[in-house]
This record gives sequence, structure tokens and C-alpha cells, in this order.
Amino acid sequence: MTTPLSQPKPIDPAALQIALAGFLHDIGKFTQRAEGDPTASGEMAKGFFPQGDFLDRQVTLLLPKRPDGRPTHLHAAFTAAFLDHFEKWLPREFQKAGWGLDEPLATLAAGHHRPATPLQWIVAEADRLSSGFDRSRFEGEYNVNEEFPGWKQARLRPLLAELDPDGDDVRPDAELATRIPLRAESTGLPFPLPKGEAEGKEAAAIEEYRALFLDFALALETLLHRDVPGLWFEHFDSLCERYLGVIPAATVRPMLPDISLYDHSRGVASLATALFLYHRANGSLRQEAVQDRASQKFLLIQAEFYGIQNFIFAEGGVTQKRAAKLLRGRSFYVTLLADLAADLVRRQLGLPHTSVLFQAAGKTLILAPNLPEVPQALAAVENALNRWLIDRFYGEVSVGIASLPAAPADLESQPVQAGKKPQTIAGARLLWGRLALETARRKARRFDLTEFGGVRREFLDQVQTTGICGFCGRRPEAEAVRLGERGACGVCHDQAILGERLVQYGTLAISEAGNPVGEPDLVVPIYDAYQLTFSQAAKLRQEAAAGRLLHCWDIGLKERGARENRVTRRPLAGYVPRQAWEDGRDDLLLGGRQSEERRLELIDRAKAEGTVKDFSVLAKHALANDGCGLEALGVLKADVDNLGAHFALGLPMARQTFTRTSVLSRQLNGFFAAFIPAALQGREEWAAWYPEGDWRRFQFLYTVFAGGDDLLLAGPWNRVIEFAGFLAERFTAFAGGNPRVTLSAGISVHKAGEPIRHMAARSEEALDKAKRGVAGDRRGGGEAGRKACLTLFDETVTWETFRTLQEVREELAGMAGRGEVNTALLHRLNALLEDIRAVKAIEAGRDAISQADLGCLSWKARLQYSVIRNVGRDLEGGDRREVADRIGATLLAWLAAHGTAFRIPLWQVLYSNRRVD
Ligand SMILES: [Zn+2]
Repeated sequence: MTTPLSQPKPIDPAALQIALAGFLHDIGKFTQRAEGDPTASGEMAKGFFPQGDFLDRQVTLLLPKRPDGRPTHLHAAFTAAFLDHFEKWLPREFQKAGWGLDEPLATLAAGHHRPATPLQWIVAEADRLSSGFDRSRFEGEYNVNEEFPGWKQARLRPLLAELDPDGDDVRPDAELATRIPLRAESTGLPFPLPKGEAEGKEAAAIEEYRALFLDFALALETLLHRDVPGLWFEHFDSLCERYLGVIPAATVRPMLPDISLYDHSRGVASLATALFLYHRANGSLRQEAVQDRASQKFLLIQAEFYGIQNFIFAEGGVTQKRAAKLLRGRSFYVTLLADLAADLVRRQLGLPHTSVLFQAAGKTLILAPNLPEVPQALAAVENALNRWLIDRFYGEVSVGIASLPAAPADLESQPVQAGKKPQTIAGARLLWGRLALETARRKARRFDLTEFGGVRREFLDQVQTTGICGFCGRRPEAEAVRLGERGACGVCHDQAILGERLVQYGTLAISEAGNPVGEPDLVVPIYDAYQLTFSQAAKLRQEAAAGRLLHCWDIGLKERGARENRVTRRPLAGYVPRQAWEDGRDDLLLGGRQSEERRLELIDRAKAEGTVKDFSVLAKHALANDGCGLEALGVLKADVDNLGAHFALGLPMARQTFTRTSVLSRQLNGFFAAFIPAALQGREEWAAWYPEGDWRRFQFLYTVFAGGDDLLLAGPWNRVIEFAGFLAERFTAFAGGNPRVTLSAGISVHKAGEPIRHMAARSEEALDKAKRGVAGDRRGGGEAGRKACLTLFDETVTWETFRTLQEVREELAGMAGRGEVNTALLHRLNALLEDIRAVKAIEAGRDAISQADLGCLSWKARLQYSVIRNVGRDLEGGDRREVADRIGATLLAWLAAHGTAFRIPLWQVLYSNRRVD
């Protein structure tokens, strides 16, 4: 028996309004910096144009004054002006009396520098807590500080560039010579530029703000679902992520401009919501109570998934049908499980979406009010989630929810004694450590088996009546559920459908299970609570108005110049190459040595797969135009090195706030989920980043998964190898050149017909090997230094060596092309690599020397012999000798320098030159 999760509660409008007030409190920083030129007119006019008298009234009403009577914090008046100016593009509820709280949104949002009511104090207090200022500094500095000169030119510091798990101080400015340009992109955070280039001259810097604002305002107008405030808020949040995400929040000293206005706004929204709900429940909505920082008002909640990584590859049945779709669907399903678990937890607690502080790698952090009923609600939701998971995944996947009460004071910086010198440490870092202990304690208990023990029996009974699903090989087939001509279990059916529709539709609608939208796509609603419908956003207006739409996500890739997103942007679909029957390359389907029967089958499969290219077609794209080469797939798995250490220790102790940790996970996810698919699809303006400037270079690579901190791709083997170099280079650029932030990758090469699970497992093994690093390499000294490697053809090399080896490959391919080395010699070289391996083993003392092995020691002599036998056989005497000497010397130098890693360029050339006979 499973107990269905109760219907998620609708979010209380009062909680939503306070979250919105917190989220919007500093939007005036954007409008102020983007203030239009009052003398500009007509088409020249861009930026924000507030009404003069309105602004004056707000200044009098809202702003604190200096001793000389001049107002400070003009941005707060601009926040009020923004809400007034764009009233018609915001939800109408905001203006209605009786919606949410007694105070209008505008004064709640704009009153934070001279709070006049307890509710305004809530937003003000949340702002101060989020900024990490204590009260004395607030009175002394926060409220009178002026922006530093040229503050409109200041651009965001890339946080990834600051990571240093071994260091504890802020890296000096000179080392962080890059900034994020002030530009909104649909492909994640823009790449950092040299500081001078990103900041530019003052006039240009102000024009950038005006242009950014104009785009933002136009997009704001087109947002859908204005009549459902909670849903609209998610869309608006997503819009702000793109625009406010490149604006530095603080431009007053001594704060560093490394937190964006977006991230600051999210932090304030979550703190304000928790404070409000706490004080409302305790009947203590009074200024003094709100300002009290000693009481444990907050509850930090961490939900963690166990076993979710193995789950993707653990399942596999007798059939290989739909394998690629299923794998893609499963990866997506895993993302959904984590997302929707977080969604369910926060909804059960009546919290708006902004209360989720952080979500990455199967972990979610939520900020809730510390109220007596919360632990009970958490236990109930954890139990219900686990029941549902165990029924479907037999205990391999489960959720643990841990929580920790915290006082506002705990978020402030604390003095610590680190070594000999006293330092400060961000309160969040200490809380993080205590929460990790709590989570470990939860994990030890996992779930209570006596409670869940009954499941297996039901399962066995059902298997006897229906048989086992052929796709997963573990769950019983469900009645009347089919995938093509086969029966299937509900979960496999859903995963295959997700994998298929993910790349066919632009929008994913998420609704309550009992009240679905349109024609729902799932046989088994997730957690018995959520139903999914793939659709087009515009079709969903009525459904939203009826309150049936919980979330509406734009999941696809944006073409350049395409319409702005009108709903929440969640780039989950990745990129898949599509059949272009007209591109001529698809003639490859008919080429090669294959029977007529096989050709017809390929064409049939191509049709059945819809427009998405089949793996067997992708393998054919590895062939040269003349049909030369190896018809095979490359599978690449990559992820960020030392991610745990970066999250836990990467930032200086004093600056590791929850906001910064969430920025890191959000930016990394943006790189993998938004940038990588766009880079595969190709963008002409990025041409300089691609080999030979060919921005269509990677269009035949297929995303199985891209998001969080990792990536799984398949494609023509030679393109996949090229892409690995591109990936490493772009990642370094994204991290502002920080040598401590790296990734590793593993590539495996396969015949297209191999089971995809097997391919994915081999690439995973290659990645594991890459993570162990190059033997004997001690770069950087610490554990961190030994990663940043690629494993290919079972050889592990650093990215630096890989680049050198690609130059070797080019030279070697040139020699082969000119006929200077023939295939026989290439094969001889391959055999010599085995001898070199044996010599290395002997030198390292791993192998005892036997008489028979001694032959390997003479590999250099045999190289010379092979060169003389094979090189320049068409040339005459003297010429031949000269060419042989040159080639012999080059090959010897390569083998001596790279040892067995020479296999990488050698095999690339051997595979590329294979003749189809
Ligand atoms: Zn199944």
C-alpha cells in the first residue's frame, strides 16, 4: 500500500508578497544605472525614464538623509518608480486591495533603507542579513556609504575565478583580471573578458546599462501567466536571472562586486519569507522582535538523494530498442526526481520557490521558518517520497531530509582562531558543516526497512501475473502499457516518452497529478503528485488561468534572434543532431559495405526515430567524404574536478555565504546545460573558439545528458575527440583562467551497434581513470593538481599534453598524406608502443626482468629498422636516405617524449586512414 502525498498546498499570498518584496527591493539599482538620457527622443531613447515628480515624492518618503540633508540610497526610490512605471506588465493582484498583506508591494520593496512598519523591517532585516553586515557596521557604514567613483563601470567579478581550496584569502585583484560583460545571453552567463575590455569607458558603460534595460523591459511585457502571481513570479525570476545576473549588486566599498543583483535578490526573498512566517506564527510582528538576531528563527533543510547516479545505468533489459531515448529520458528523469522532491517539500511548508537556496548534485537546501509543525511535516513528506521511490526502484534510490535550526546571528561572520592569526569565518560555512553532520546521521538511518519491507511480496505477485518489463529487466510490465510493439512497465514507458518528447517540444507543463493539463504524458505521475505535459507555451494560457499549471518551463535551445522566453527558462533538452535529408551527408546511410536489407533497415530506423539522427548514422559521419576512415562512435563523459572541495572550501572562509555557494552551482549548471548544447548547435559569433573557425564543427554530437557539473555526449569518434579539446579550453575561459578550476574527461570508441549502456559504462570507466591522473605527475602538489586529465584509447594525459599530441597528430597525418610513412610503418609503431610499455614497467621496477622480455629494450633499433624498410620507398638513394633520417628522428623524438601516450595521435591517424574495402 502506498499513501499518496497530499495535494501540495497553494502558497499563501502573504508569503508570496513578502518574497516578491524581498526579490524586488533592489531592482532600483538596475533602473537607476539605466536611467535614460532626458534629452534623447524617439528611437534614440533607451533606458528607464522615471517621472520626475513621482521620484521626488519617493525620495522624501523613503530615503534616509545625510547630516547635510542630502538623501542617500537613491536606488530605493528607483525601485518604487519601477513598480509604478511597469504596473501594467506586472500581475494585477499586486494592485488589488486585500491580496496578500495590508501594505502595498511598492512600499514593502522600496522602504528598506528607512523602514517605517514591521513588514518593511522584515525586508530591511533580510537585506542586512544577506549582505552579511552586522548591526554596528550597518549603522556606521551600510546606510551612509557612497558608491565608489566609476561605479556604473564596475562589472561583475567571475566567482569561479576566485576559487582556491588550498588558500584562505581573497585572491588579489591582479590575479582576477577578468570581469563578466554587461550583456544578457540565453546561453548562460557570458564568458569573462579582460577587465579593461568588460568595463570600458563611462559613457559606453552607461549605454550598456540602458540597452540591457530596454531588452529587459521588452521581455517583461511578453511574460505569460500574469494572472497567476506564483507562476508569473517563476517566469520573472528566470528573466531576472539572465538580466540582473550580470549586474553587480554592491558598488559600495568595502564589498566586492562578485555577487549579482539577481543572487542578492534571491537571498533577500528567502530570508524575508522565513522571517515573516516565523513572526506571523509567533504573533511577534514588531520591529524589536524582527531585529532580534539571537532567537532560532530559521530552519535550514537539506534534502539529499542517495543512489541516484547508479540508477541511470543500473537498469537494462533484454531489448536495445529505444536505448538512446531511454538513456536520455532516464537522465532527465533523475533531474526531475530531485527538482520535484524539492518542489514538494517547499510546497508542503507553504514556501514560495525563492525559498530554495541551492540545488545541485542531488542536494537541495531550503530556508524555512523554525516552527514546531515543520519537523513533523518534513518527516511525513520524507516518508511519502521514500515509499514512492522504493515501490519503483526497490530501495536503490532514496531521499534523506535533515534540518538544523539557526538564528540570524549564526549567518553573520564569526571570529575564529585559524592557526596563529585570528580570522573571520562566514556563519554559513559553520552552519554548512553542522548540516553535513546532520545529513550523515540521517544517511546512517536511511529508511526503516520494517516499514517498507512489504513491498517485495507485492512485486513478486505482480511479476507472476504480468512478466518482467523488457526495457528495465526489473519492474513488472504494467497492463495496457506499450512501447512500440512491446509491453513495458510504467516507469520505462514514461522515461522513453520523456526522452523522445524532450527534443520535440519547446515547453514542459507540470501540473498536479489529479488535475492534469491537456493530454498528460506520464503513466506513473511522479511521487503520485506531479503530471507532465509537453506542449507549446502559448497553448497553456487557459490551463494556467484555471490554476492547474504548477510550472511551465521553456526547455529547448534558443535559436539566435529567437523570441525572448515568455516562461521559466530551464534548458533541459540538450542538443541532438537532426536528419536533414537534403544535406547530402545523409547519403552516407546508403554508403559503405552493407547489404540491401541493412540499408532498408537503416532508412526505416531513421524514419522511426523522427527527425533525430540514429547512432548508426552518427557513426557514419566519422567517415571522410571519400568514405575513408573508421565508422564508429565516440562517447565522452566529463565532469568538474574536486567539486566537493570547491563547494566546501573553495571560497575564502570569510566569504562563503549561502549566496556564493548557490552562485557557483548555478553558473556551473549554466555552462553545461545552456552553453554546451548551444556550442554543439553552433553560433557563428563564436567561430573563433572552434577548430579552423568552423562553428558547425560539432553539429553531429548528441547530448545524452548535460547539466549540473557533468556531461555525457556521443557522436562521430573523431569529432568527439576534437570536442574534448574545445570543452577543456572553454571551461578554463569560463572559470576566468583559474588553474584550480578544471574538468576531466574520458572517451571510449564503439561500433554503433553496441548496447548504449555498455558504451556509457566504458566512458565512465575512462573518466574514472582520468580522475586518477597521470602516473608520476605531481602538478600543484595537492590532490587537486593531479586531475584535469583526459583518458582516450586507455591512455591518460593532461590537457596540455593532449594539445601537444594533437599537433603531433596533424604532422603525422601530413606525413601519411604525403606518403612519407605508410600503413605498415604505422602498425609497426603501434607494436613498438607495447615494448615501450614493458620498458617503463621494468624501469619502474614493477616487473621482474625475464630473458624473453629483454627484447623490448631494443625498441629504438627496431624503430630505425622499420623506418629504413618503409620510408620513402618510391624515392631514389640519397633522397630516400635523407627523408628516412628526418622521419626516423621525428618519430624517435615523439616516442621518447610521449611514450605510450603516442598511441593517441597514432590511432587517430590509423583510424582516419582506414580504407573501406
Ligand atoms: Zn521497465
